[in-house]
Amino acid sequence: MESETKNCQNCKKDFVIDPDDFGFYEMIKVPPPVWCPQCRLLRRMNWISYRILYKRKCDFTGENIITFYHPDVPCKVYKQDIWWSDKWDPKSYGRDYDFSKPFFEQYKELLEEVPRAALHTEYTTLTNSEYCNAVSFLKNGYLCFRHITGEDNAYTNFVLRITNCLDVAFSFDSDMCYDTVDVRHCFQTFFSQDCENSQNVYFSLDLTNCSNCFGCVNLRNKNNCIFNEQFTKEEYEKKLKEFDLRSRVNLEKFKRQAHEFSLKYPRRALKGKNNVNISGEYIYNSRNARKVYYVSDSENVKYSHLFVKGGVKNSYDFTYFGSNSELMYEDSWCGHLANNVRFAVWNYRGHNTEYTFACHGCEYVFGCVGLNKASYCIFNKQYSKEEYFPLVEKIKKQMDDMPFIDKRGLSHKYGGQIPVDLCPWAYNESTAYEFFPLTKEEALAKGFTWRDPDQREYLDATMTIPDHIKDVTDDILKAILKCEACGKNYQIIPKELVFLRRFNFPIPNHCPLCRDRARIKQLNPMQTYDRKCDKCDIAIETSYAPDRPEIVYCESCYKQEVY
Ligand SMILES: [Zn+2]
Ligand SMILES: [Zn+2]
Ligand SMILES: [Zn+2]
Repeated sequence: MESETKNCQNCKKDFVIDPDDFGFYEMIKVPPPVWCPQCRLLRRMNWISYRILYKRKCDFTGENIITFYHPDVPCKVYKQDIWWSDKWDPKSYGRDYDFSKPFFEQYKELLEEVPRAALHTEYTTLTNSEYCNAVSFLKNGYLCFRHITGEDNAYTNFVLRITNCLDVAFSFDSDMCYDTVDVRHCFQTFFSQDCENSQNVYFSLDLTNCSNCFGCVNLRNKNNCIFNEQFTKEEYEKKLKEFDLRSRVNLEKFKRQAHEFSLKYPRRALKGKNNVNISGEYIYNSRNARKVYYVSDSENVKYSHLFVKGGVKNSYDFTYFGSNSELMYEDSWCGHLANNVRFAVWNYRGHNTEYTFACHGCEYVFGCVGLNKASYCIFNKQYSKEEYFPLVEKIKKQMDDMPFIDKRGLSHKYGGQIPVDLCPWAYNESTAYEFFPLTKEEALAKGFTWRDPDQREYLDATMTIPDHIKDVTDDILKAILKCEACGKNYQIIPKELVFLRRFNFPIPNHCPLCRDRARIKQLNPMQTYDRKCDKCDIAIETSYAPDRPEIVYCESCYKQEVY
């Protein structure tokens, strides 16, 4: 089969479906997509909201709870332990399919009626980690998000097997790190990015097997270096003391200086290693992974993103979070041994499911919400195996004959992720906003919703944060602080103060959300560009846009320079 150019029904731009793509769609028996990869990605990511938390009441117990559903969202919200328990029965919301109404119109009603989990976590695997979302296997976590496996962390986002860390994003297998992005197997690594197997590192970029380095770039197997200059151990330690990072003014100065210094050194066109036949950004130990972003240990995947844990095979359009899953298509927030799951939002261990929201451990379910370990259900109603398959086929045909028309007049048949008209999260609450920030007007024009800030007065800070950690008393733990960037109130928690005192860093003057967003901004974008290697001039595909200030090298020029 040849490649085919189609016009996206959403953005009206042309896109290409490759011969391999047709093979995949045929194999899993879905029609080829009618939206372009970028429009499909934004739709999937709009279904992944996790970071903005609200106070609401549990509709089962009446208790005050933390949830990621804004109080204005019309739905019932149950606290975690109730939602996962058998104190309510999702099948009691089961209903007959109505062939006189479009599928998504009926699915919207079901979505609004079946109680939602206050947060999307694997509740039973958490200990003392209530203010966390999108997490599993955590102990003593505070404001940890998209975090699998960890102990004694706070303010993490998109991490795997991280312990004793604060303010760490997009990292794995690390301990005692602070304010780092994209570090792997690191210990005591601070204000750094893209480092591996390194320790006692400050303000550094792209180090491997290094220790005691400050402001360094592209080093391998070095220690006691400052701004890539070699010192003795004694000189290094003396200088580090003189730098005095206990003061915020000094810390900010070195951050700026390190960034400017790093611009003199080349970056590699694509970050990742041990790959075969790949394209995208942040790819590790993968084969045939094309147009992907943050993918590891995966094979035959395309248009897929954000695998906190990899091991994904034969999947397309799978965004967040992976974890040994196979034959996935048009899914948001799915994984943990999922297999043949399509058009799903928040689905663990699903097998052969289509159009599900918050269904876990289910097999052969179609158009369902909130089911646990169910099989042969349609719209939460139980059928026999014999009844199930013909009815599903009949509904799929009806979806094509009577498509859902959304608020912009676009038609939705069988074969794509659930339309954003049904999504309870606004664009600016979702992961889509983190990687593709739009203005309110732009988001609304693309059919998304928007959440304006709640009209509440933030309190004035009860304390001025001292510049220097030596001037900070334990009273700061009782203080209400006010973020210098967004004005929201925040606080310092005991383990944070202990950590900052131990490693001699100042108290942050921005709130956790602003700090988190700043780290995500440090990542390379979820988009690639055609560019030329700044050394040998060959054409490269890279996530560095041509107008960015960094020097970008192709893989072979980079290797010559760095190794
Ligand atoms: Zn499009
Ligand atoms: Zn803030
Ligand atoms: Zn080159």
